[in-house]
Amino acid sequence: MQPKDLLQLSEQFGSPLYVYDADKIKSQYNRLTKAFSKVEKLRINYAMKALSNVAILQLLEGMGSGLDTVSIQEVQLGLHAGYAPERIFYTPNGVSLEEIEEVYALGVQINIDNLSILEQFGAKHPNVPVCIRINPHVMAGGNANISVGHIDSKFGISVHQLPHLVRIVENTKMNIVGIHMHTGSDILDIEVFLYAAEILFDAARHFKDLEFLDFGSGFKVPYKKDDIETDIEELGKKLSKRFNDFCVEYGKNLTLIFEPGKFLVSEAGQFLAKVNVIKQTTSTVFAGIDSGFNHLIRPMFYGSSHHIENISNPKGKERFYSVVGYICETDTFANNRRISELKEGDILSFKNAGAYCYSMASNYNSRYRPAEVLWMNGKGHLIRAHETFEDLLKNQIPLPVQEKV
Ligand SMILES: *Cc1c(COP(=O)(O)O)cnc(C)c1O
Repeated sequence: MQPKDLLQLSEQFGSPLYVYDADKIKSQYNRLTKAFSKVEKLRINYAMKALSNVAILQLLEGMGSGLDTVSIQEVQLGLHAGYAPERIFYTPNGVSLEEIEEVYALGVQINIDNLSILEQFGAKHPNVPVCIRINPHVMAGGNANISVGHIDSKFGISVHQLPHLVRIVENTKMNIVGIHMHTGSDILDIEVFLYAAEILFDAARHFKDLEFLDFGSGFKVPYKKDDIETDIEELGKKLSKRFNDFCVEYGKNLTLIFEPGKFLVSEAGQFLAKVNVIKQTTSTVFAGIDSGFNHLIRPMFYGSSHHIENISNPKGKERFYSVVGYICETDTFANNRRISELKEGDILSFKNAGAYCYSMASNYNSRYRPAEVLWMNGKGHLIRAHETFEDLLKNQIPLPVQEKV
């Protein structure tokens, strides 16, 4: 996508605006399948919490992807988008037994991540194929908020509790068909993956009726030019070999599953916003935009840094700006960032806005959430309209007029 395409879309659909590039999603999907082409049974389940627009789900379904979901509502969206139930995985954390049973009734593969629910579920449904989530206690990932494999993490069943786990499975005659792990986001070092894989293999040896091993996700994507990223090709080469060897040892061709979110959609997304005001202070030049952390919370939430380009003036002389939002709290997208010279009315593009951006957007400050556009075959398709005043009032119930305190 060229700056002129983006400018045209922001003209046509208004600002702020989310734009996703279908070709980039496809090339990432193909890159991952190619890296693991030596594995006979490979399955990719898109972790839809990253970006859950139904059109994006349909796009990935068309490429052959399955779906990884974390709530019953995500399961319902997946079914609505046309995924067969058997292509949907449900990997929740801390949900009720009732929700797990409801999802199971929809025909979806369930994954249980704690012993208490496992025991209760197993006692009631002894023959149901269940996957279990192991916590390998591998410290991985960019920061404390997105690293979920460490010792005091709430996710998964500790590998140290394997004997207890095995006892529950034997007592309830449960049918364990898969072992899963997901150690967090932004894993740089493929050795970490390989180390965690060994722990998963060790756990797998305790169960004799497995059909798949799910390695989760956590691939690091680049956030700017020359940024580091997970070397998928190298990982593919090493882990495929190790996985295939394990299958020989296990005596069965298991399916290898990944469930990437960020890897598939992060770089495909751009967030466009307009500069409302340039404010020169004694120390800083602020660029105030027509958006805020209500639309893109990652910088304020966990300090992520999104590359920002002035697409109205991409070749201008670079100056330093602090890009801030309009929310009435500290609302900073970037501090003293080099951006080509800005004037009021210019359109900024925030890169890597495909994953955990729109899906975390809110109506804070009673602002509308923006529209979403999918760029496909050289054309922009509106896949979600921006909100209107009716959306803010929807579900609100005013007091009856005669009621007074
Ligand atoms: C969020 C999540 C993912 C996706 O993680 P990314 O870093 O976006 O690839 C995969 N699996 C589970 C269980 C998750 O919760």
